[in-house]
Amino acid sequence: MMSTKIASDRKIRVDEILGAFGMKASATVTGVAYGGAFHDDASGAPVETRDPSTGEVLAHVRTASTNDCRRAVTEAHEAFSRWRLVPAPHRGEIVRRLGDGFRARKEDLARLVSLENGKILSEARGEVQEVIDICDLAVGQSRQLFGREIASERRDHRLVEQWHPLGVVGIISAFNFPLAVPGWGWALALVCGDTIVWKPSSLTPLISIAAQQIVHEVTAGTEAERIFSLVIGGGSSIGEALLADERVPLIQATGSCALGERVSVALAKRSGRAILELGGNNAVIVLADADLKLALRAVVFGTVGTAGQRCTSTRRLILQRPIAKRFMEHLVAAYKTIGIGDPLDDTTLMGPLVSQSAVEEYRDGLAEMQRQGGRLVYGGNVLADRGGYFVEPAIMRSTVDMPICKEEVFAPIVHVFEVDSLAEAIAVNNSVPQGLSSGLFTTNLAAAERWLSSAGSDCGIANVNAGTSGAEIGGAFGGEKATGGGRQAGSDAWKGYMRRQTCTINYGSELPLAQGVTFPVD
Ligand code: NAD
Repeated sequence: MMSTKIASDRKIRVDEILGAFGMKASATVTGVAYGGAFHDDASGAPVETRDPSTGEVLAHVRTASTNDCRRAVTEAHEAFSRWRLVPAPHRGEIVRRLGDGFRARKEDLARLVSLENGKILSEARGEVQEVIDICDLAVGQSRQLFGREIASERRDHRLVEQWHPLGVVGIISAFNFPLAVPGWGWALALVCGDTIVWKPSSLTPLISIAAQQIVHEVTAGTEAERIFSLVIGGGSSIGEALLADERVPLIQATGSCALGERVSVALAKRSGRAILELGGNNAVIVLADADLKLALRAVVFGTVGTAGQRCTSTRRLILQRPIAKRFMEHLVAAYKTIGIGDPLDDTTLMGPLVSQSAVEEYRDGLAEMQRQGGRLVYGGNVLADRGGYFVEPAIMRSTVDMPICKEEVFAPIVHVFEVDSLAEAIAVNNSVPQGLSSGLFTTNLAAAERWLSSAGSDCGIANVNAGTSGAEIGGAFGGEKATGGGRQAGSDAWKGYMRRQTCTINYGSELPLAQGVTFPVD
């Protein structure tokens, strides 16, 4: 438990961090905003948000009722009828200012992310930087929302493709990337001419309220004033209300594979579209010819970084037999040096898990792995004496036939397997339902190319001599199979936020039909 002195220092810190956004510890704040303003009369069931480092209540949050959610969608729908007419580069100018708003508040936001989510400050700064980066990318994209011209088979005809804004985008986001991942969606959707209704995780409401404040500061008095709404509330109430609302043509959903199934079913019923960013079960393969130092650093960041609470966290380590013993010795030695503690302290490498139920998932996951034949090599303890939700990172010797190895346990636990060959390693990598991220460590060019070939990794992200975590926003981000198939961020991910239209223009005086069909009418 914390001493009185540490507890009072922590309280001062918490007050400072919340104060930067006009919030006070233990006070009530509003988590519903639409039409350019927060709504203190929001009538959903209030929620508490807790400091994962102490377990203490940070604030009480007024949430949205389904009625509030409907009103937010109505506002966003009306705003869309105007926003879609604003020239895209002008929409880009608003997103540029939004990026500047985040840039100006980067440190304040990072400290709030670290406080409420529990990720270490360096990663929290990276998270805010990712929002800034995607805004920069989206500004350029706002001048590049181009279609293509296709050769027409008919004389005096032109065949073109163009892209139009889609409508209201419902963004349902997870606790573990409370800004960056929803940010990938906002920035692109806004330049594409869509408006936003955002339902963040109820585990990180203060971060989303702070982001909404920045949106209001930037958009107040502009043509963008009403384009961005916030509806904090439960998945089964507000999440479901968004899924069911036919005025929301696209849902961007980030969360577990179970969430993805629910979203897919609900949207299929009304032919809605989804961008799904779901759970991962990511592997790193280390071949015998690899640069082991490089591999070790990547594996430790992938397994322990963000306390194992990234969609891209390394959950499976596949070692080629000749180096397996040596690599494991280095891995255990590295784990022993990991400073676990207050995520706001610069020397900490691993903060707490996000909640008590995350601690239970860790504990239950480890017990089940051992029941199925796994052997615990390192860690496995809940650090209950510290208060908050701290655990040790754990290493488990597992076998690929253990059913639990096919599941994502969202905690800092890595399974270790040994293999003889690259072919066997690829088979193990591809043997799980999820298909998000993967990495191969080798100095052999042929092995690297085999890994990247169509017979290699089946994941949306396949790296060589780089770990599973830490993607740049320039590339399209997302995964295959149960990870949902969605793509966000760079490359051509913007197309997911628009509707495509194919246009045929006849500038002649005849009416030839395609495929040579004749239909003479006088
Ligand atoms: P979660 O699935 O518990 O919740 C995610 C969001 O879905 C929350 O906002 C929640 O309220 C909402 N939700 C829950 N039930 C719903 C329903 N029936 N209808 C509509 N919305 C509903 O996930 P989490 O614990 O917040 O986050 C961790 C998970 O997210 C992990 O599985 C992780 O891998 C995944 N994730 C994936 C990516 C990616 O890009 N692939 C990124 C971040 C997190």
